[in-house]
Amino acid sequence: MDANAQGRPRVVVLGAGFAGLTFCQAFSCPEADVIVVDRQNHHLFQPLLYQVATAGLSAPEIAQPIRSILRQRRNATVLLRRVLKRDFRRIDPQQAHIILLEAGPRLLPQFSARLSSKAAAQLAALGVEVRANSSVAALGEGLVKLADGSQIQSANIIWAAGVAANPLTRRLGVELDRAGRVRVHQDLSLPTHPEAFAIGDLALVLDQRGRPVPGISPAAMQMARHVARLIRDDVRGKHTTRNARPAFRYRNQGAMATIGRSAAVAQIGGLEFSGWVAWVAWLLVHLVFLIGFRNKAAVLLQWTYSYFTYKPGSRIVTGLGDDSGHEDSAR
Ligand SMILES: Cc1cc2nc3c(=O)[nH]c(=O)nc-3n(C[C@H](O)[C@H](O)[C@H](O)COP(=O)(O)OP(=O)(O)OC[C@H]3O[C@@H](n4cnc5c(N)ncnc54)[C@H](O)[C@@H]3O)c2cc1C
Repeated sequence: MDANAQGRPRVVVLGAGFAGLTFCQAFSCPEADVIVVDRQNHHLFQPLLYQVATAGLSAPEIAQPIRSILRQRRNATVLLRRVLKRDFRRIDPQQAHIILLEAGPRLLPQFSARLSSKAAAQLAALGVEVRANSSVAALGEGLVKLADGSQIQSANIIWAAGVAANPLTRRLGVELDRAGRVRVHQDLSLPTHPEAFAIGDLALVLDQRGRPVPGISPAAMQMARHVARLIRDDVRGKHTTRNARPAFRYRNQGAMATIGRSAAVAQIGGLEFSGWVAWVAWLLVHLVFLIGFRNKAAVLLQWTYSYFTYKPGSRIVTGLGDDSGHEDSAR
């Protein structure tokens, strides 16, 4: 946070993902200006990205222009960049032998042991060979070498172990963890800059049990609402020092993982679901949180159509923004 030439407080939000957008929507402080910078012109609903890769949905159905989402926010300015398009190729699972390697003793360790084995059984029913306790030692061209000395030959190797934070964090000059996340202060500010905050997938925050808060959208949105309240109170002079600010507390609202058609696992409070019920719950939750009524209606229609006809959608996905440097701005 800083101030413009007229002395109005100015908050710069880098990235209009779940955290950035939720911040803008929760930041009720008309006495301050908000500038949102994103390399894309749209918010991408990443939890449904795999549906685009597998041609279940098309890219526009899970994207919404940032300007239209924030059009009610009179004090928000959006700085934008261009995007590219790329094609995905269709994978025919009938012709593929899919091996899923997991270094740990079971899949989805954040779920109970019972749901882990339900997930493994649902994958097996899809023809996926699941190998637990299989740690990858090295990758070569068309070759995976395992820690036990065995090798697997494959034309397609997909590395999905762990999500790394945006490389931008390396330029901040602050302490990072192995995944490149910023070790933030308990109020989510940078240790060396109380006026700057890292939230969402960028931030390493511990929950009440001392475990890292997971990199999922509800966590990003909770952090965004916390910082929105905190900056508003800063602007109004409520906190005189950083230590006077409240600490962030994460509320675990449950976990869901989709596996395939009518196959998923879900853990909500003390309740556990798997199979069709969990899959429908997963669809409903994602539909509710998808931004824009038009997208919700289009996705619902597409899912219903695909469910009954087994036909996929178009195979176009929006890629990373091109770095040609084109920018425009709009209120
Ligand atoms: C395939 C996939 C599936 C997922 N499934 C789920 C799920 O089912 N449930 C769930 O809760 N979570 C899921 N997640 C995680 C969830 O999407 C993230 O936790 C959430 O998006 C984090 O929000 P964020 O705002 O921190 O980051 P993001 O949503 O990634 O937003 C970051 C924003 O910053 C912009 N940006 C990046 N670099 C720059 C730059 N240099 N300059 C300007 N702008 C920049 C990007 O364009 C983007 O708009 C999934 C993620 C992926 C990738």
